[in-house]
Amino acid sequence: MASCSYCGTFILFGGNTDETGRYCSDHCQQLGHLIEVSKQIPADLLERLVADTHQGNCPRCGGAGPVDVHNAHRVWSALIMTSWSSNPAISCKACGVKRQLGNTLLSGVVGWWGFPWGIVMTPVQIIRNIAGMAGGPSKKTPSPELRRIVSVQAAAAALQHSAEA
Ligand SMILES: [Zn+2]
Ligand SMILES: [Zn+2]
Repeated sequence: MASCSYCGTFILFGGNTDETGRYCSDHCQQLGHLIEVSKQIPADLLERLVADTHQGNCPRCGGAGPVDVHNAHRVWSALIMTSWSSNPAISCKACGVKRQLGNTLLSGVVGWWGFPWGIVMTPVQIIRNIAGMAGGPSKKTPSPELRRIVSVQAAAAALQHSAEA
């Protein structure tokens, strides 16, 4: 089975394929292209950007780092419809836990009311949040997710810069 070159989601049907890989959505394809662009950024520069972000202040609360990618998982249902998503964001651990807790409460209230996926996915998303709160990325080293997001941002900034020049 194919999986998205950017986010790793399994692709059952469709998706976009190009020379850089196969993507589950236009959004992932765009990000995948930025990853390709980021490969042209000198490795030591990128490394410094990743380390600065990791050791920098939290973009959400302004508090001290380390800062990393914390994933919050949610689900909501309305009768036969259930929608679930995982939303990564860069923040300190405390902000990450706050989001995961908020998403857990939300999912606990609005997740169940769909059949069958609400009943299946609500405990899954809640357990993912609890796992994130209990574990999460190491404080010592930047996670691969943080590296990926910083690479994408640096590539986007470089492209914008060259477009303006
Ligand atoms: Zn994807
Ligand atoms: Zn914070």
